[in-house]
Amino acid sequence: MSPECLFVLDHYNDYISGELAPEKISRVEDHIKACPNCEIFLGKFTRIHSRTVGLLRAPAPPALRKSISSLLEKV
Ligand SMILES: [Zn+2]
Repeated sequence: MSPECLFVLDHYNDYISGELAPEKISRVEDHIKACPNCEIFLGKFTRIHSRTVGLLRAPAPPALRKSISSLLEKV
């Protein structure tokens, strides 16, 4: 594993979350274009990340919302 692979591993989370500094984004993207292993890794992680974010944004089940609302009414 090259130092650039380690750089990608250290920064992939911020990269995918859109929180990486612009100069580091181009370093990650330049490396991904040249390294099939990092490209595959980031591709898989990006899919997992989008699914997780999608699940977190899904509305709560009606029964859960109802019980939370009734709890809040008591406060
Ligand atoms: Zn790499």
